Amino acid sequence: MRQKQIKGFNLDELIVMCEENNFSAFRAKQIYHWMYRHGALDILDMNNLPDDLLKYLKNNFTIKTLEIERIQNSNTEDTKKILFKTTDGKLIESVSMIDKNLHTVCISSQVGCNVDCKFCATGIMGFTRNLSCGEIIDQIIQITNLREEAITNVVYMGMGEPFLNYNEVIKSANILHDPNGMNLGKNRITISTSGILPKIKQYIDERQPYKLAISLNATTDAIRTKIIPINKKWNIEMILNELDHYPSDKKNMVMLEYVLLKDINDSKEDAEKLSFYANRLHCKVNIIPFNDIGNQYSRPDDDTINDFIHILHKNQENYQTLVRWSKGLDIDAACGQLSTVSQ
Ligand code: SF4
Repeated sequence: MRQKQIKGFNLDELIVMCEENNFSAFRAKQIYHWMYRHGALDILDMNNLPDDLLKYLKNNFTIKTLEIERIQNSNTEDTKKILFKTTDGKLIESVSMIDKNLHTVCISSQVGCNVDCKFCATGIMGFTRNLSCGEIIDQIIQITNLREEAITNVVYMGMGEPFLNYNEVIKSANILHDPNGMNLGKNRITISTSGILPKIKQYIDERQPYKLAISLNATTDAIRTKIIPINKKWNIEMILNELDHYPSDKKNMVMLEYVLLKDINDSKEDAEKLSFYANRLHCKVNIIPFNDIGNQYSRPDDDTINDFIHILHKNQENYQTLVRWSKGLDIDAACGQLSTVSQ
């Protein structure tokens, strides 16, 4: 009989599993702690469980969903790119970045991606499959074990479109946030989407507590459709209309991500329009100068980037402007560079 993965079970599922097999429900909480608080990578590590339960778990479940294939270290920053292999041989990447007292981990939610954003190396790979909640969580657990510094922030901005794997992504964020699980603050978890409108609506309706980032990247539908083809289906105005319902507060503002591409979306008119959208929403604007992936796009020169940012600052009434000079450029670990095509 093929063993099931136990990593990814939430507490309710563990309770059902225990009760159905005549083990006391409080054992479920112990298993939950072992997996998510202590990061156990072997069922036999759970040394306060009775022998019959250990035997049952060992016979029916596996716990490790990923193996580390390779770790690349940046020479310029404290950034590592980790290549993981799933149990069915698929490759995914995660990035761990330490800067001052922040340890941010960027995780993948799918093997590949079919959204096909033209500035993104993952998009070029095509889509293979969704990651399970256990595989999403395991990236964080294994990076926790690799590094001395505790993880302070998790961003769902690695390979894949998180909202096309909505249930597993939200389930994993819930385990991350749960005080009995990994106990990470809700404002330290950010989920990014290229604009999957029905899921943005669901996310807002469900009042999910995690930060939401929208990969906007253009101020006109003509340009956005060119670089993010799903814009044809769900355009800028539809997304902004939906974001009007986002329950923004000081600690949790929606983030508009804007990758600056030379001669595509970097004009002064674009900056004016972007600040107009941002003032409407009460949000953060994150400007990301493009990172080279060897295609037709390039990064604007520094003067153009500075002019763009200057306009955003000048118009800033109801938003904040951030600039993300990406980490890990020398190991292709920066935004939009993750790909396992040539591993
Ligand atoms: S930017 Fe995100 S949604 Fe777009 S292709 Fe890349 S991984 Fe997919």
